[in-house]
Amino acid sequence: ETLDRISTLEPKLHSFLCVTADRALEQAKAVDAKIAAGEEIGLLAGIPIAVKDNMCTQGIPTTCASRILKDFVPPYESTVTQKLFDAGAVMVGKANLDEFAMGSSTETSAYQVTANPWDLERVPGGSSGGSAAAVAAQESVVALGSDTGGSIRLPASFCGVVGMKPTYGLVSRYGLVAYASSLDQIGPFGRTVEDAAILLGAIAGYDPKDSTSLNVPIPDYAKSLRPDLKPKSRIRIGVIKETFGEGLDPTVEEAVKNALQHLQDLGAEIQVISCPRFRYGLPAYYVIAPSEASANLARYDGVKYGFRAPEGENLLSMYEKTRSQGFGPEVKRRIMIGTYALSAGYYDAYYLKAQKVRTLIKEDFEKAFAQVDLLVSPTAPITAFKAGEKTEDPLSMYLTDLMTIPVNLAGLPGISIPCGFDEQGLPIGLQLVGNVLREELLFQVAYAYE
Ligand code: GLN
Repeated sequence: ETLDRISTLEPKLHSFLCVTADRALEQAKAVDAKIAAGEEIGLLAGIPIAVKDNMCTQGIPTTCASRILKDFVPPYESTVTQKLFDAGAVMVGKANLDEFAMGSSTETSAYQVTANPWDLERVPGGSSGGSAAAVAAQESVVALGSDTGGSIRLPASFCGVVGMKPTYGLVSRYGLVAYASSLDQIGPFGRTVEDAAILLGAIAGYDPKDSTSLNVPIPDYAKSLRPDLKPKSRIRIGVIKETFGEGLDPTVEEAVKNALQHLQDLGAEIQVISCPRFRYGLPAYYVIAPSEASANLARYDGVKYGFRAPEGENLLSMYEKTRSQGFGPEVKRRIMIGTYALSAGYYDAYYLKAQKVRTLIKEDFEKAFAQVDLLVSPTAPITAFKAGEKTEDPLSMYLTDLMTIPVNLAGLPGISIPCGFDEQGLPIGLQLVGNVLREELLFQVAYAYE
């Protein structure tokens, strides 16, 4: 049924870069065979899932929506997809994204533009736009995305689904193509909080193959969900004052204020919290992320992976031609910014400064979490915009990440859940942010809210 739905909708949506129908049927049949044999089946047995195309899948192309990885077929499996397959999940395809996950609209993909299922003229958000659109349009039940500065939460908000970015280190990055390694984190999309909680439970956990992986016990997120918010002590929720400033769409503001009222009605105690250094998150991120990206992307030289420009006269010109033809404009922009920020003489002024700002933002969060259990903000200041509307102006595109980026800089967990619609019927997202490893609480509050 899912594959049929994909065939019907894909000509309009373009959520997938590659539909893995044969593999999906094979995996589904394997589950059937287990059931017939009376064997135990996994937690995700038979569940159709879309995987963002920056996670390596053995024997299946992994392009990162870049020309430079065209025809790249990984010889190994990423830890997350291996865990999905071990749990019996059925992968229906590799989802579209912004090239190397750099973007907020999925428009920087070298291959196709994904449409927002709520309005086909609009973007699904990014960079995990294919994953979010697939879940919203029921082309899969759940999906995996990656979030470096908001790439799960923003598209979840634009497409009216649930998306969670876990604590840095909770989910293994082994086999996730690196964008900015100190920020990248894989997480789940679902149409409900429960689906997202089940999926996170399946992919979280220590992995010796990722040196930043946390060795902590993983709670049963789905099991601890309750329809109400009535713990022994009242849950204290802080509203981040600085996210209600200039640039916030009034309908988004109204929806978030209604959501706060709803949380209060459920028994939460709401207070306003100030995170004064929050606003420096965006500039710090757009130094740190491109810097790390420029180093990570140095490996694409036409020798080791994917595409090689045919007409190089010697080694250097082959490198140059491969990289100029293989990377799109946004990726080149990031490489140039990053290389500049890391260069001798500028390193202290830009990269080191940005890292110091990162510490200050962490401090703001620490102070906030001394007073409240959770923080709340809009996920994005706006709802889904029209395709092409921001492509000429990178800075206005970067602004969509204003509220999600500080969470990555501090390595915290954040979830976006639907909280209403604007006057055009486009979904609005509410962001809940927890302290390190408070995923369980985030899911509980989100579930009670839902
Ligand atoms: N929009 C942000 C960027 O372009 C975030 C992307 C992401 O989280 N992968 O860097």
